[in-house]
Amino acid sequence: MCGIIAYLGKKVAQPILIEALKRLEYRGYDSAGVALLGSGAIRIKKTSGRISALEKILDEPDAAETLGIGHTRWATHGKPSTINAHPHLDYTGKIAVVHNGIIENYGTLKTWLQNEGAAFASETDTEVIANLIGYFYAKGDSEEEQKKSDGQNKFEWSVQRALQEMHGTFGLAIVCSDFPDTIIGAKRGSPLILGVGDNEYILASDAAAIVEHTTQAIYLADNEMVTINPEGFHTKTIDNITISKELKQIEFSLEQIELGDFPHHMLKEIFEQPKALSTCMGGRIDSRNNRIKLGGIDSYLRELTRTKRLILIACGTAFHAGLVGEFLFEQLARIPAETEYASEFRYRNPIIEDGTVVISISQSGETIDTLAAVEEAKERGATVLGIVNVVGSSIARTTDTGIYLHAGPEIGVASTKAFTAQVAVLTMLAIELGRRRHIRSDQASKYIDELSQIPDKISQILNQSDHIKQIASANIDQDNWLFLGRGFNYPVALEGALKLKEISYIHAEGLPAAEMKHGPIALIVDGMPVVFIATAGPQYNKIMGNIAEVRARGGKTIVVATEGDENIKQHADHLITIPDVPEFLQPMLTVVPLQLLAYHAAVLRDHDVDKPRNLAKSVTVE
Ligand code: GLU
Repeated sequence: MCGIIAYLGKKVAQPILIEALKRLEYRGYDSAGVALLGSGAIRIKKTSGRISALEKILDEPDAAETLGIGHTRWATHGKPSTINAHPHLDYTGKIAVVHNGIIENYGTLKTWLQNEGAAFASETDTEVIANLIGYFYAKGDSEEEQKKSDGQNKFEWSVQRALQEMHGTFGLAIVCSDFPDTIIGAKRGSPLILGVGDNEYILASDAAAIVEHTTQAIYLADNEMVTINPEGFHTKTIDNITISKELKQIEFSLEQIELGDFPHHMLKEIFEQPKALSTCMGGRIDSRNNRIKLGGIDSYLRELTRTKRLILIACGTAFHAGLVGEFLFEQLARIPAETEYASEFRYRNPIIEDGTVVISISQSGETIDTLAAVEEAKERGATVLGIVNVVGSSIARTTDTGIYLHAGPEIGVASTKAFTAQVAVLTMLAIELGRRRHIRSDQASKYIDELSQIPDKISQILNQSDHIKQIASANIDQDNWLFLGRGFNYPVALEGALKLKEISYIHAEGLPAAEMKHGPIALIVDGMPVVFIATAGPQYNKIMGNIAEVRARGGKTIVVATEGDENIKQHADHLITIPDVPEFLQPMLTVVPLQLLAYHAAVLRDHDVDKPRNLAKSVTVE
């Protein structure tokens, strides 16, 4: 959440910062700003609203300003106003800061700083960072403090001193008017990447803002900082211990993060699913030998095969993928499994016995709740496996082992292709563990063969996009929807409801179909849309009963069923079909029409699909 950017080079900074902020805008979009440095004072422009609003208030770019920092905010402390927008300037007017994260002890620090005479203008926690650095910077003038700083430049020392007092999370870019050719970046809990170009540097919370300039980058770890100037950069811990960092290749291209012919990233990503899944599974499915090869986890396969219990931890859409995983591990590998919200797992004194393996799932690999839960599980002695999309992300680095999704960058705030790729990875892992534990090899090869056909089958469902748009249109005036499924499709019902809520702002609930009669059935009124996933499987007859119950009460049924099911037609007000596959593979198919339904509903309601209200991508605050 929130995008931070900094540029230092030979080019005019302002247009570069604005372009980069547009690429980061999916991370936050309630206010935005830049601070620019030429030879004089820091020049700040900021406003509530989107980057387009910021562009309207900008002056002509100043050619002397070849250094600057920028921010697109997702407010945590203080409403999205111009005053609360970043960058924040300290009370001395010398230090400007952009911040991603939350300073948990900001209240105490603010009171203390106010007593020391520092003035505050905003309601944010971030202003405390600016003022504390400013305070130490001003104090560093004293001979005693100069001595303590051991010849180190005063700006760097002040940043270190301030950060040592901070509790909570931060990704920061900081400038100081006395050092007009220097930017300092620092990180704890929020991502920060330094792109190293040809005589230029781009510091950003996400590689999407860097690839246009360079594909070489260093990834800062927690409690590390980088000082950049035209001569180069150096990295240290915030305790002033010099460290060397390896230059890494950013593994995606500009083309992958551009819209192309699609009106929205979300639609592009829904349609990318066949390709994303092919890439995710390609090289991992060895059809000749009927094996699944998950290279990254080789040295942990023995432990995984013998594991007594799996705990899957995740948030949001990834949590729903985790629920599918729970069914997969139990059914295919016969390993007891349970899925937990990462935020709950972390604080409930979890029991980790010998033989427990924790699987964490996160598209960005930066989800702070999941990252904190990973750390908790490791501390309690669990082996932790990560399933993440973003290479080199915090969860990828913190877990013992992992499997990348290789689904390509996901920009749409509402996750789509990451979900299907997460389920594909979980399916591959469950089949492989099952094969090692008890599944006969001819059975495993049948599963593998069916799994490899999933991308083509998704393409067939995508052809129904216009038909699904008509269904959305016919029900667009309804403000309450239910999504019901059973077995493997129960998590898909949850995901369908979440998708509809997050982008169309229609109230929706997802439930295991049988639960409806224990309360939610009271909600059903004439014309209320109820989405059923009633595909071929062991619970088909049971869900037919639930459909009848809804229709008897005037509900309108939108049914996702298996192709060739003639019986279902008379029970469905609207019918969407998926190709016939075994039940354990259905979630990767049944979710696709629900993604399209949510997408079309949001467009019909005239919402900004890629920037839904109050949401942002990559949830880096708790
Ligand atoms: N806590 C800061 C604020 O509310 C930063 C939030 C963010 O990460 O965008 O301004």
